[in-house]
Amino acid sequence: MRYGIFSDIHSNTEALDAVLTLFKGERIERVLCLGDIVGYGAEPRECIAKIRALSPTVVGGNHDWACVGLMSVEYFNRTAREAILWTQKVLGMEECTFLKSLQSVWSSNEITLVHGSLDFPEEFRYIFDVESATSTLDILKTKICFVGHSHLPMILSMEGGGAIHSYPSGSVAFKEGHRYLVNVGSVGQPRDGDPRASCAIFDSDRSFVEIQRVPYDIRSAQRKILQAGLPSLLAARLSEGR
Ligand code: ZN
Repeated sequence: MRYGIFSDIHSNTEALDAVLTLFKGERIERVLCLGDIVGYGAEPRECIAKIRALSPTVVGGNHDWACVGLMSVEYFNRTAREAILWTQKVLGMEECTFLKSLQSVWSSNEITLVHGSLDFPEEFRYIFDVESATSTLDILKTKICFVGHSHLPMILSMEGGGAIHSYPSGSVAFKEGHRYLVNVGSVGQPRDGDPRASCAIFDSDRSFVEIQRVPYDIRSAQRKILQAGLPSLLAARLSEGR
C-alpha cells in the first residue's frame, strides 16, 4: 500500500493542492492526515472540503480543536488566537461537526498517528529533536509513529536497546527490530527555512518512507490572508518558511 501522509495544512489551499497533485503522480492509495487542517490561513472551508473528499484517516490538531471550542484559545499566542477567532466565524455547522469528531490518536497494526506526542496526545507537546521524541518512541506499540505539530520534518529511529538515531536525509528504508518516528512537516506553514510544502510518502510493501517538498503559489496564499484581514505576519512568514 502506498500512503500519502500530511499535517498542518492550516487553511492553505494552494499548498494543499500542490501536495495532492504530487500524491496523484506518486500513485497514492490511501491518505492520512495528522491534523491542524485549519488555523492561520484564509481558506479553512476549502481545505476541509478537499481533505474530506479523499476519505482519509484524520486525527485532530490543537487548532482544529480550538476552532470548535474543544480547547481554550488561551493556549495560543496572539497571532494564532486572532486567526482561530476568525476561523470560528467562518466555519459552518457541518464543518464544526467534522472537526469535533476528530480523535487524538489512531493506530493500525503497523502505524500510529498523533498530532503532537503520544505520551500526552491531548496536551499537544512538541517533538522537534531526539530528546522530545524519546517519550513517544518509548511507549510506541507499532513500528512507525507519524506526527506533525512542530512543522519541522524529521525521521528518527529507536533500536531495541533504546538508542535513537536521526536521519539527515529525507528518506529511510525501515529495518527489522527498529521503531520509527516520522515528523512529516507542514503543508501550509513550514518552519524549517524551506518555504515549500512538506509531506511524506510511505510504501508499506517496500518498507520505505520519504519526506517530499513541493513548491506552491505562495503569493496567492499570502494575498488571501491579507484580503481576509488576518494578521500580516501570517502572510509574511510563508515566503520565509518560518
Ligand atoms: Zn500546526
